[in-house]
Amino acid sequence: MVKSDRAKAGRQAPTAYMTKKCPECYAYMPLDAKTCPVCNKKIGEVDELGFAKKPFDWQGYLIAAICIAAFAVFMWWGFFRE
Ligand SMILES: [Zn+2]
Repeated sequence: MVKSDRAKAGRQAPTAYMTKKCPECYAYMPLDAKTCPVCNKKIGEVDELGFAKKPFDWQGYLIAAICIAAFAVFMWWGFFRE
């Protein structure tokens, strides 16, 4: 009689990737890494291609919004003020 391990092997969660890739420098890192150990960029969860997702860059959008607002004020101040 041969003892089967099939019942034990079939119950594992399907994890497609053991590592994820940095979208900036393509370095491999553990799945639970929050920042890239090579380029220190913030990274998110692994996606279906094995790359780490880029987190939403609030700081970048905030700076862009401030620049646009400042430009709008400058335009108003320079050309439309009475
Ligand atoms: Zn990186």
